[in-house]
Amino acid sequence: MAKILDRTKRGTRTAVIITIVCALLIAGVLIYDAVGAKNAAIRSNTAMGTVVTAKVWGASGEHTAQAVLDRIVAMDEANLSAHNDTSDIAHINSASGRSVKVDNYTANLITRLLLAAGQTNGAFDPTIGALVRLWDIGGPNEQVPTAEEISAARATVDWHQVQVSGDTVQIGKGQALDIGAAGKGAACDAAKEILTENQAKSAVISVGGSILLYGENPAGDDWSVGIRDPRGASNTQLGTLTLKAGQCVSTSGDYERYFEQDGVRYCHILDPRTGAPADSGLISVTVVSPSGLVSDVLSTACFVLGYEQSLPILELFEDAQAVFVTEDRTVLVTPGLAGSFDLTAGSYTLGALS
Ligand code: FAD
Ligand code: MG
Repeated sequence: MAKILDRTKRGTRTAVIITIVCALLIAGVLIYDAVGAKNAAIRSNTAMGTVVTAKVWGASGEHTAQAVLDRIVAMDEANLSAHNDTSDIAHINSASGRSVKVDNYTANLITRLLLAAGQTNGAFDPTIGALVRLWDIGGPNEQVPTAEEISAARATVDWHQVQVSGDTVQIGKGQALDIGAAGKGAACDAAKEILTENQAKSAVISVGGSILLYGENPAGDDWSVGIRDPRGASNTQLGTLTLKAGQCVSTSGDYERYFEQDGVRYCHILDPRTGAPADSGLISVTVVSPSGLVSDVLSTACFVLGYEQSLPILELFEDAQAVFVTEDRTVLVTPGLAGSFDLTAGSYTLGALS
């Protein structure tokens, strides 16, 4: 996961672990939000199965930070959560085969997710819900299903069957939507709108594995974001990204939601082509983009595809760049981030993209 590092003194990088960080670590989320807290309003809450933290600089920072959290909690409950019976996604899933009227926001988001599914050749597929439920990785019923069970659930995964018309959405009979790979990035985009409306000066919004860097770093430097070592302890980092304002950073990896059985690691990112956990040779992918949705969706899709198949997909998205970490501990960085990534973990080597 990404973590924000302090750069309050030029030339030094001090990781100041504040109270919020403790909450994030307890939640299993690996973000240090350690930019100097001076004059920032900080609010934290749980939503989308993770910890959400808003740190906002500017005259109405407290009001704005709270508005960001309220919006993300509302998105979770009313729009996006497959875990909440009252959300639009739950209504769509329980009415599979029939059309359902939903909030305009939900319909528009699903339209964008279908577009992303096409652009990633279905590596990201929002109709993956039945497979997610079957494996239940990280949940109380996590298991290796039988080949028959996988085959039956996989047969329901097909984004082409989803129809959006105005504010109505219909999925195929037996299908289920799951927005787990996109909701936190969408939340960063919603946060960006609120920050702009409220004329916030600067902000760092973290929603699980997705982070928005808004405005200039008050410390006067570029923002510095640490990427977690996917095979290290929860407080260790692989390297650092130095980024300009306005970027979103999302990481997908195999080290948080997974279980092991007979020496095999089963992670929560599933390959729609096989119905099983992705096995592309990657252990972590971080995607940087001005769009939270793009960074979140692509981090998942690239994890499924592996770096070679990901490169042409990344090129379809304006300004999307990635850091790939392979299971043999090689780190591969796309050209747009080459000057921005600093490898700090000695047990990894920097490779060249072929
Ligand atoms: P990402 O790579 O961004 O997403 C992986 C997730 O996307 C998987 O967990 C799965 O849900 C889904 N997925 C897997 N493979 C694919 C694929 N090929 N294409 C598309 N999607 C795929 N968790 C809880 O335990 N309790 C909750 O109440 C809860 N509510 C949530 C509500 C919302 C709106 C969202 C977005 C998530 C919620 N979660 C909940 C999920 C939880 O936060 C997950 O851990 C998280 O979504 C995984 O995100 P990630 O950044 O680690 O991985
Ligand atoms: Mg994702």
